[in-house]
Amino acid sequence: MDDKTMVLIAEGAPRARILDPAAIERKLALNSYNVDPQRAHIRIIDHDVCLQCERQQCINCCPANCYVPADDGQVIFSYEGCVECGTCRIVCHVFDNIEWTYPRGGFGIQYRYG
Ligand code: SF4
Repeated sequence: MDDKTMVLIAEGAPRARILDPAAIERKLALNSYNVDPQRAHIRIIDHDVCLQCERQQCINCCPANCYVPADDGQVIFSYEGCVECGTCRIVCHVFDNIEWTYPRGGFGIQYRYG
């Protein structure tokens, strides 16, 4: 966080907001994926542990919506649309319940500018 950002927060100014929420989805749609059907590069280690997690920040923070809440309180994960940002690995720091690796060579996301 730079000095300018800290001042804005300290003065109670409104935080930056996303003016065009659909822009992220449009950019994600430009990417292509070579999904590895043999190996999920990320997995939830123990789904029952997610029931103890009050905030389930993986659901809120994943930019690709790979984590979805289930009706029973568990978290459903699919790795196919992952952009390999590493956010879920960071936000699951309380329970450390995500096993995270990059996809095997030749698999995963291919970024395109847009
Ligand atoms: Fe989502 Fe990023 Fe985690 Fe992939 S690495 S599942 S895009 S938060």
